[in-house]
Amino acid sequence: MRIDLHTHSSVSDGTEPPADVLAAAAREGLDAIALTDHDTTAGWEPAAAAARRLGVTMVPGMEVSCRSSEGISVHVLSYLHDPAHPGLLEEIARSRAARVSRAELMVKRLAEDFPIDWDAVQEQVAPGATIGRPHIADALVAAGVVPNRSAAFSGILTARSPYFVAHYAPDPARAVELVRQAGGVPVFAHPVASSRGRVVGEGTFHEMIDAGLLGVEVNHRDNPEAGRDWLRRLAKDHNLLVTGSSDYHGTGKPNRLAENTTDPAVLAQIAGLGTGSALVGDLPG
Ligand code: AMP
Ligand code: ZN
Ligand code: FE
Ligand code: FE
Repeated sequence: MRIDLHTHSSVSDGTEPPADVLAAAAREGLDAIALTDHDTTAGWEPAAAAARRLGVTMVPGMEVSCRSSEGISVHVLSYLHDPAHPGLLEEIARSRAARVSRAELMVKRLAEDFPIDWDAVQEQVAPGATIGRPHIADALVAAGVVPNRSAAFSGILTARSPYFVAHYAPDPARAVELVRQAGGVPVFAHPVASSRGRVVGEGTFHEMIDAGLLGVEVNHRDNPEAGRDWLRRLAKDHNLLVTGSSDYHGTGKPNRLAENTTDPAVLAQIAGLGTGSALVGDLPG
């Protein structure tokens, strides 16, 4: 059984529409896949239709962008929540609006030094999609400033760059609480991904656990090995689920589908705990 619980489509910053992500999963021979676009569930319907057609199980999900009190970026995966829960909807709507003004400001700063403008960035965003730095990266690629997204992220677009602007995002413990209220299963995404920037300390983990965190994404390419051992111990001590996933973004990132996978028994537990929406297809295994 092969299960990948973290993927993105063009409904956020992946490069393929949801149905194509499901088709890629079917080609890879995956049994189940979660679609976890940033701060949106707009891909659930087309993904579910494709899942039924292809016979791949689809776990409705989302990746909630958060920011800790120290200003550190945290991502919380949510599985099987109610997509219409007002409290959660309100938070992601606020984040998504803030992402637009933040992108505009970043583009304004970039435009002083590079051939880029807001229209060029808009051309890279699918209608209604959650905008992010990857779309700005795509406009820089189109303008010939950088060869690909990764080059943009290792230079011009890093959080340490003078062009970088932060956007409003909920506190991670608050996001965990809202996901639980919406019947979802919150899992801390790539919690020790130090290559992306600063990571949170133990205090934030405990706040999230106290708020109802149910799992940690241990097997993810951005988590260094030493951090994974620490995460496994934390999971054991606090009875958290352990997941592994690719964080596939189509051609937007080197991450390959199913390069990390999740145990079927863990998916079964997630399916049992999530009450806000239903798995599309059967539980594999
Ligand atoms: P943002 O949420 O707008 O701050 O942008 C962060 C997003 O950029 C995350 O979803 C990452 O998956 C993506 N990202 C981070 N590093 C890279 C990279 N090297 N190449 C492509 N995408 C990246
Ligand atoms: Zn992304
Ligand atoms: Fe993430
Ligand atoms: Fe992601």
